[in-house]
Amino acid sequence: MSNLTKLVPVPAGINMGANGTRNSLMLATFGNPRGWYDQTCREVTHPQMRTRMVTDDVGPFRATGFDKAVASLTAVMRDIKAEQRAVYDVLGNAGMLCCRNVRGSTTAISNHSWGTAIDLTVDGVLDARGNGKVQVGLTLIAPIFNRHLWYWGAGFPTEDGMHFEVSKQLLESWEGSNANTMPDNELVTGDRGEKVAVLQRRLNALGESLEVDGIFGTGTRAAVVAFQAANGLKADGVVGPKTWAKLGV
Ligand SMILES: [Zn+2]
Repeated sequence: MSNLTKLVPVPAGINMGANGTRNSLMLATFGNPRGWYDQTCREVTHPQMRTRMVTDDVGPFRATGFDKAVASLTAVMRDIKAEQRAVYDVLGNAGMLCCRNVRGSTTAISNHSWGTAIDLTVDGVLDARGNGKVQVGLTLIAPIFNRHLWYWGAGFPTEDGMHFEVSKQLLESWEGSNANTMPDNELVTGDRGEKVAVLQRRLNALGESLEVDGIFGTGTRAAVVAFQAANGLKADGVVGPKTWAKLGV
């Protein structure tokens, strides 16, 4: 095992100015890459999205993904080569375009489905998800990804150190801010992040027994609908200002 695959805690100050992209934002911006998902990598069936997928040499390897994401990744890799040559020399591609759900979820669509996320190996080793630790090599290149407005999956409630994705801010620089997206204070199925974990903890405090994984899936939605129905709210599974207020968060 090389020094670059040694595991260390997730460093502080990651993902400065870069937020993950919500399913609602991706769907409003590009549409749905395909009609259904499971845990297997499946192909894009959406005709417009299919035309946006390219395969190119990004530096240390070839990658297939959304055209602008592949171009941005090439720029990231150019900087990694100049600034972190030892990591560059052992970086591998563990998958970019791949239409599937988020690991362990039956409702949250992975951003790999739009070809805007990539998983990396360091010296042929995949960083294990959810143990709160990341490979040293990843910590050395994360600031470079951050500078190019890529979001590092080490910041997900369920840490995913090998995963980097196009941030909301980078997406908006390409496509403009999309008026159709859900407001930031509303949570819906498919969302993930610390706010979802806050929701799950609060529902658990009220008697549910949800896994606090920060992923708004079927179980979380059912708990929200039950809470709304029991509290005279519209039972639509959307956590907006009224539901947050009743939850006392
Ligand atoms: Zn990934």
